[in-house]
Amino acid sequence: MKKVSLLAPGPTPVPPRTLLAMAQPLIHHRSSDFLDIFGQVREGLKKLFKTENDVLVFCSSGTGAMESAVANLLSPGDKAIAIRGGKFGERWTELLEAYGCQAVNLDVEWGYAVKPADVAALLKQDPSIKAVYVQALETSTGVSHPIKELAQVTKDTGAVLVVDAVSALGAYDIPTDEWGLDVVLSGSQKALMLPPGLAFASIGPKALEMMKTSKCPKYYFSWAKELKNQGINKGTFTSPVTLFMGLLDIFELIEEMGLDNIYRETEIKSKAFKAAMAALGLSLYSKENASVGLTAVEAPEGIDGQDVVGWLKNKYAIFIAGGQAQAKGKIFRVAHMGYISEFDTLQGISAIEMALAGLGYKFDMGAGVAAAQKIFGEA
Ligand SMILES: *Cc1c(COP(=O)(O)O)cnc(C)c1O
Repeated sequence: MKKVSLLAPGPTPVPPRTLLAMAQPLIHHRSSDFLDIFGQVREGLKKLFKTENDVLVFCSSGTGAMESAVANLLSPGDKAIAIRGGKFGERWTELLEAYGCQAVNLDVEWGYAVKPADVAALLKQDPSIKAVYVQALETSTGVSHPIKELAQVTKDTGAVLVVDAVSALGAYDIPTDEWGLDVVLSGSQKALMLPPGLAFASIGPKALEMMKTSKCPKYYFSWAKELKNQGINKGTFTSPVTLFMGLLDIFELIEEMGLDNIYRETEIKSKAFKAAMAALGLSLYSKENASVGLTAVEAPEGIDGQDVVGWLKNKYAIFIAGGQAQAKGKIFRVAHMGYISEFDTLQGISAIEMALAGLGYKFDMGAGVAAAQKIFGEA
């Protein structure tokens, strides 16, 4: 069996020390030791989200937190803006419709960022709109939406801003309270370097007010129930004890590294990778606000992006991601977040060069690796 290398935007590699932290004997989720762990998790999440809000933990993938942010804020028939600049943006529409709410779709061309003025215009036109749903980092296109500016737009309206930061939180700075973000969602398996299975939701005062009148059905993902129980360090249901132990270790690791250093390193890996792709004559799929968390690259003319992904997977057990929906076959995506190192990044670039050469693309072999080495060397 080949050594597996995870370079896709989730799940990302888990640090060995964190794997060991999760290899401890199981304790009971109602023991006093676990109550203590729950308290530490809550404190750690507040620091990570940079907020005084309660940050709820759910045992689900990131989409569970997204679903909770529809079910707990709205009532059937309510209108909400879904910013759709990619596959994850489309998920907002699907969720809104599943709960009988009316999605006001704000379609953004894939590869571009939403214009805050367009959101402002929609809210002005229809003051009954109750929420704006957006991705911080639209993982399917590699574009970061302007979250700080969107918060300025929603601030003095009746609408709450819900930010899906599943792939963004931990990759770059998203200060919840400083920017006045009503709801921020995340998950464990992207920049937070953990296995899949945990989802998070930071809930601000404006969202708490809206929650009180929400009539959408909810059970497992009830914010009110969780706020009450998690407020005294208890999960309503059986908590994922092992993942909590891992999360505590990640908080320690972040504390040792410093969040700002983590952001800086992510930025350097992104810069090196993007320079490598340019040196190979390839263009980014993200035409504006290209994110530091991951890079979406256009496959060269005549080469299917899925073949590049398949080549890396089948020959080298290196996992990158392809395009989804309308971008399928056109692009490949590589992550720079979390525990992915400089040398993992160089390995990925090297493997992409080998795949492109094997698929018939003409370029200077080694040019991408050299461009990235130069940037890492100077950092
Ligand atoms: C990964 C991701 C999610 C959550 O996906 P799950 O498969 O449910 O964990 C949500 N939004 C974005 C932007 C993501 O990248």
